[in-house]
Amino acid sequence: MKPLPPKLTVAEREAANAAASAARRARAAVKVALRASETSIFDVINSASPALQRMRVRELLEAVPGIGKLRAEAIMERAKISPTRRIAGLGRIQLSALKREMAITKIDPKRGLLIVMSGPGGVGKSTITRALKSDPRFWVSISATTRDPREGEKDGVDYYFYNDSKFDQMVASNGFLEWAEFAGSRYGTPKEPIEHWLTLGKNVVLEIEIEGARQVRTVAPEAILIFIAPPSWEELKSRLLGRGTDSPERAAARLALAEVEMASAGEFDHTLINHQVEQLIEELVSLATSHQEAAQQE
Ligand code: 5GP
Repeated sequence: MKPLPPKLTVAEREAANAAASAARRARAAVKVALRASETSIFDVINSASPALQRMRVRELLEAVPGIGKLRAEAIMERAKISPTRRIAGLGRIQLSALKREMAITKIDPKRGLLIVMSGPGGVGKSTITRALKSDPRFWVSISATTRDPREGEKDGVDYYFYNDSKFDQMVASNGFLEWAEFAGSRYGTPKEPIEHWLTLGKNVVLEIEIEGARQVRTVAPEAILIFIAPPSWEELKSRLLGRGTDSPERAAARLALAEVEMASAGEFDHTLINHQVEQLIEELVSLATSHQEAAQQE
């Protein structure tokens, strides 16, 4: 039987609570300083403060500008640091691996960009991703979904078609970068290949709906969020209704959804108008190039 924890007197409990809240404040202050680039993770690692020494390495990395959950996980995996490791528990070899990783993070001009593309139904996102798939500068993520394949769609090419329990498993094992429900089915971006292609210098493109884009914003703050807009609402309406296969109720639902989707454009970093696919891809490439140049100058 485990021994019971020692009983604390009121004074001892108050002292312990005060120490815990001072430690929380110290950790919060360090995160603010990291976000403002006023301190580096190595200053924190070298600090003798017991409160900071108890901080998790993951928490420390996630507070660095441009490193979100996704990159923090990948850095720790490469440096062979377990996800729950605290600063005090870092070994010498892990520390030098971390130094190497942080140097690469700063100066890696080859690393690709994570690009999220969203926009209302009917705006032409799938034509754009089809064109990007044959462009060697980009790698287009293949999502998993619980919806049934449409005619002509292939498993592992258009989507990974999962049943509910397989999707649940992926969620439980933290295998998705983001996932969301859309029109009664679930859709998710498998996390694993993304870091691989970014490291190889490809610009990784996710074509996902808006809720998923919001999630990427929090887990990978370095991602560039691009909203694809139609030349006009009238044009979108005619593209949506021009499919001609919908009942009037379904058509009305599509339009209502498109309206909600259009209203989220302001949350994105850039809006590109889809006048013509080739032109849009050129704009995308010049956007990616200017982001990469800006990152190198930081
Ligand atoms: P569809 O079923 O027509 O192929 O896609 C429906 C919606 O799901 C589209 O808006 C598409 O962008 C979105 N979608 C596709 N894959 C993903 C994904 O991995 N995550 C999220 N959040 N949305 C996705």
